[in-house]
Amino acid sequence: MATELPDHPAKRRLRGLVSELMLIPGLSGHEGRVRRHLAGLLSGLGIASRTDRLGNLIATVEGTVAGPSVMLFAHMDQLGLIVRKIEPGGLVRVERLGGVPEKALPSQPVVFCTGGRDVPGVIANKSHHATSQEEKYRVLPYPEIYIDAGFDSAAEALAAGIDIGTPVVYAPKVVELAGDRIAGTAVDDRAGCAVIIEVARALLAAPRRPTVHLVFSVQEEFNLRGAVTAAQVLAPDIAIQLDIVLATDTPDMAQRGDIRLGGGPAMSLYSFHGRGTLNGTIPHPALVALFGETARGEGIPLQKSAHVGLLTDSSYVQLVHAGVAAIDLGFPARGTHSSLEICDLSDLAGLARLLAAGIGRIDDSFSLDRDRYVT
Ligand SMILES: [Zn+2]
Repeated sequence: MATELPDHPAKRRLRGLVSELMLIPGLSGHEGRVRRHLAGLLSGLGIASRTDRLGNLIATVEGTVAGPSVMLFAHMDQLGLIVRKIEPGGLVRVERLGGVPEKALPSQPVVFCTGGRDVPGVIANKSHHATSQEEKYRVLPYPEIYIDAGFDSAAEALAAGIDIGTPVVYAPKVVELAGDRIAGTAVDDRAGCAVIIEVARALLAAPRRPTVHLVFSVQEEFNLRGAVTAAQVLAPDIAIQLDIVLATDTPDMAQRGDIRLGGGPAMSLYSFHGRGTLNGTIPHPALVALFGETARGEGIPLQKSAHVGLLTDSSYVQLVHAGVAAIDLGFPARGTHSSLEICDLSDLAGLARLLAAGIGRIDDSFSLDRDRYVT
């Protein structure tokens, strides 16, 4: 069931924005094409942007009222693979970059981003007729995976521009599902980027707003720290991060939470990842209160998430300088990190509306003193 009106103009704009952004490859550390496209979209709204040394795209919408400044951010990059070795016969071996699920890889179409053009390939899957009973339920680990791009020799692959270090991503694709649902490559986090563009449009039209820095960050899927350099320079008081929230309304996810696709935007009350990182975000109580009250006031359903096993770059941004009041807001997604992830445009439109209204409530009376909030 949709939470936003079926023909809402924001939803129409978001369908276009998400689709065009999902069709642009942008592996972590190689976000240039996505960045230039987003800079063009901002420029179309009359907003100038700049790029820092790491590649973050930064734009500032000056405030019309005094009060704490906001950094609203989403990551531009996507996970994928990097060429590790080209076999003499032209088959390509890869390393993974980010949390790529091995079990979702066989038979997937991919593209090698060679700089000049995207070269198609297919991740090999052993012929079924030669697959033994033991192999049937085994997931192939990375060292055994190879990509077939049609070359007969390493020389042919090199001549096509493929070399060690070449970025590889899932072949970009958009699939329109029923109603407001859309499947595509890197819904995580091009949908978040699209929401920021929609919020920027709303902020420009708002008579009252604090200063809002829009940041499209890099390397989130790689090390979660790309946004840190932007936060260090901007020194915001508040950081609002937008990304996927795990939808749990399918049979395989039912025990994990209460997030429904199409049930509206979501707020994370707890995230943590203990495998190698030991970090997460426990949101600032002022922001939990702000977005809870805004959702009630605007009649926007706001879902809640508390989840171990994932984290976002807000985990690191909150630790910049003397500390930044941080929160993760997002939209439900299914099949995360697979080649086709699913989201609902109604949730994106609801998230954009929640953000515009919530940020619009921030002025110099908005306190970040934790002791003013009962926790
Ligand atoms: Zn993400």
